[in-house]
Amino acid sequence: MVYLIHFQDKLHHAQHYLGFVETNLAQRIQLHLSNRGAKLIAAVNNQGIRWQVVRVWHKGDRNLERKLKNYKKSRCFCPICCNNQQRTNQ
Ligand SMILES: [Zn+2]
Repeated sequence: MVYLIHFQDKLHHAQHYLGFVETNLAQRIQLHLSNRGAKLIAAVNNQGIRWQVVRVWHKGDRNLERKLKNYKKSRCFCPICCNNQQRTNQ
């Protein structure tokens, strides 16, 4: 499945992490929490930035992960950021 993590504060210009895990998302989150999952998340942890998984594509595979990454607009998939955007547009 493909998952999207939203950081409470930006790290440099990044505020999202898009990842893929075969089956065990809970286990992957534990890895992220212990800085063994991804360099970006480890850096976020080291900055004391809180983060959360905001969206999961349960049927997502590596193709979907690549496709979503290629959009380079993770915030469009993020319910937190998209809601904020709508509010400022109104
Ligand atoms: Zn977001």
